Amino acid sequence: MSSLLVSALRDVVGAAHVLVDADVRATYETDWLGQTHGTTPAVVRPGSAQEVAAVLGVCAAAGVAVVPQGGNTGLVGGSVPRGGAVLLSMQRCSSLSTVDTLSMQVTAGAGVTIEHLQQHARAAGLDFAVDWGARATATVGGAVNTNAGGSRVVRFGTMRAQVMGLQAVFADGSIVTQLEGLPKETAGPHLPSLLVGSEGTLAVVTAARLRLVPWFRATAAALVACDSLVDAVSLLPQLRQLPNLDAVELLMPEALAIACKFLDVRPPVAPSSAGAFVMVDCAAHHDPTDELASLLANERGVLAVGAQRDLLYRIRDHVTIAIGALGVPLKLDVAVPVQHLDRLVRRVTAAVPGDARLVIFGHLAEGNLHVNVLGAGEAAPLLRERVLEAAIELGGTISAEHGIGVAKADWLERLKGPAAYAALRAIKSALDPTNLLNPGVLYPDLPTRHDPQPRFT
Ligand SMILES: Cc1cc2nc3c(=O)[nH]c(=O)nc-3n(C[C@H](O)[C@H](O)[C@H](O)COP(=O)(O)OP(=O)(O)OC[C@H]3O[C@@H](n4cnc5c(N)ncnc54)[C@H](O)[C@@H]3O)c2cc1C
Repeated sequence: MSSLLVSALRDVVGAAHVLVDADVRATYETDWLGQTHGTTPAVVRPGSAQEVAAVLGVCAAAGVAVVPQGGNTGLVGGSVPRGGAVLLSMQRCSSLSTVDTLSMQVTAGAGVTIEHLQQHARAAGLDFAVDWGARATATVGGAVNTNAGGSRVVRFGTMRAQVMGLQAVFADGSIVTQLEGLPKETAGPHLPSLLVGSEGTLAVVTAARLRLVPWFRATAAALVACDSLVDAVSLLPQLRQLPNLDAVELLMPEALAIACKFLDVRPPVAPSSAGAFVMVDCAAHHDPTDELASLLANERGVLAVGAQRDLLYRIRDHVTIAIGALGVPLKLDVAVPVQHLDRLVRRVTAAVPGDARLVIFGHLAEGNLHVNVLGAGEAAPLLRERVLEAAIELGGTISAEHGIGVAKADWLERLKGPAAYAALRAIKSALDPTNLLNPGVLYPDLPTRHDPQPRFT
């Protein structure tokens, strides 16, 4: 079966774009965290929507599931092939249209990296608003499918707010192209919005029409040292008054210390000198330093412009990487209404075993915490349960930006409630009746002919 499948796939995309060598496949078969592993008979690299449609046709006929993959930086195991699924790498769909400065939009192929997109927009004097540490590798298709967030959500919203239209291929091979980018349209439900955050389970995204924003070149940041997380949260109303507020990030002392140690840099403020750190960034057409300086008049911390600001961002961007260098953490991405953040952290802290290391950071304005526990060992499953349970009980979510993937699929029904879960499952079943696309992600109870279980280490 496998050699017939490979030969049919080669007929569709060309032999050079069907990778079967074990060493080459290996890089696609494990996730960024090194936590989820799978195997695939072939990595297929289509170059267009038509080729994607043809690949889906071949796989459907062969009864083989398909896992779409962008940059493979996802943190919930959803981009890894499981149970012999074909791995559909979208990196060759990498075209970029000329920036339309009239509408402030651009059309990007699913495989374009976020960094490349930002550079392309900036060459035209504009910017792409969604930004995070994995920008050099993460792709437009992955960002759309996880509804990626990052540090600038407080100003510009998540990926959902940037998507003006999509081109996508459904499981039956039909291609929908809605890339006009109309800012207003109320002609029934908005199909592109339905696909945002669908984690490769409803369709394969091949291109996106994206909103661009002004490129604010004048920037200033501050690292504010707060006595406690409660004090950090209480800064928010004041921060929201800043006219050019661009990011409000949270670094708990352990996160600051770990990232600085990894980068071998001196911490801008001693991590042990505070209970929580807030990184505030302002970006404008004119120097925003004064607005931040006035904030610091009443607070402890450092003002950072130029190279100092770049260093703050390097530190922030490297927290995940620094944790990964210390081991495979239990990593949970949760959010609660900001007023409950302290309660959440107290509950998490109480649940962590004494010999494990808890590292918390996140996006303060959205009440979004990245909870990382190193060395949880056998306590990990119970700890996961406690953290996710606490987030739900406090009126929050078990995923603010990383998605559900396979790692949290067992929790989706509990989070959404039976009626909402049944509605989502019905949409999936209608659009993908054989569960061809990414089985095991989001809907673990949907039958598939393929083993959806990943191997976790
Ligand atoms: C160091 C680091 C920092 C991070 N920080 C953040 C952060 O601040 N905010 C944030 O939101 N995320 C963050 N992430 C998570 C990750 O970068 C995002 O989830 C990103 O959107 C994934 O993009 P990707 O191209 O790597 O997608 P992948 O990991 O390849 O795939 C992610 C999911 O999307 C699906 N998919 C991918 N491409 C397509 C497509 N074309 N069509 C259909 N489905 C597709 C996959 O099947 C999978 O379910 C971070 C990751 C790392 C490693």
